[in-house]
Amino acid sequence: MIQDIFPHVFHNEFQIKTPGMDSYFLYFQDGRLLLDHRTSKRIPQFEDIKSQGKEAMSCSDYLFSIDQMDFFLIDETAVTLTETDSLTFYETGIIRDLKPMWVSFAAISAGQLHRFYSSNRFCGCCGSPMMKSKKERSMVCSSCGNTVYPKIAPAVIVAVTYNGKLLLTKYAGREYTRYALVAGYTEFGETLEETVNREVMEEVGLRVKNIRYYKNQPWGFSDSILVGYWAELNGSPQVRLDETELSTAVWMAPEDIPDDFTNLSLTHEMILLFKNGKVS
Ligand SMILES: [Zn+2]
Repeated sequence: MIQDIFPHVFHNEFQIKTPGMDSYFLYFQDGRLLLDHRTSKRIPQFEDIKSQGKEAMSCSDYLFSIDQMDFFLIDETAVTLTETDSLTFYETGIIRDLKPMWVSFAAISAGQLHRFYSSNRFCGCCGSPMMKSKKERSMVCSSCGNTVYPKIAPAVIVAVTYNGKLLLTKYAGREYTRYALVAGYTEFGETLEETVNREVMEEVGLRVKNIRYYKNQPWGFSDSILVGYWAELNGSPQVRLDETELSTAVWMAPEDIPDDFTNLSLTHEMILLFKNGKVS
């Protein structure tokens, strides 16, 4: 999965650090990310923007490290970078395809923090400017002290099985057309298992039993932590589709499940486990 970057090690402890010319930087602008395209697409270093490097370094914040590599976010409201011979803007949808996988994980994690900082410039309580905390990863109101932390929304993924088949779904109205599993965000006042029951009922009109936790996965694309569960059908297998959420939901035998899954997501790992007969 995307966070499994061994033998590389991800360090997300909060620190105040100053970038060096060999530090890596993320620069987002209007839903696009600046990448070095000279060989394979890679996250650039400050030394790649020599003429603007010093100014950009003074307007950047330390995000995290992978091994000894430090990653910084340049504040795009404070400095404007433009494309060069080696640097090009790409739509952020490309992040999913960056290779090797730890580069993709770095970019997705930086994107999550960029959304956090850029969407909390002003206080939701009093409207005053928010400042980055120097003690922890948070934004603090300069007037009333309101403190906001990065958004991490819990959500469940549910693999429902029945009679040797797995319930596969497709989202309605999205470009993403591969099969997925029933999924949804946890609502206030409910446990994760209650989310499983509610989402399965809402999306496909089915009841489940024997809910078992599998694994979880940080999923920065949607600012969430995904929690995977296996569950067995309890009652009728007749699907009643929520057509605002899904375009299809089908019971599928392992041999009929297509083979076009990636190793990035928990959803795909669970579908492949079932396809390969490793789940009863
Ligand atoms: Zn405030």
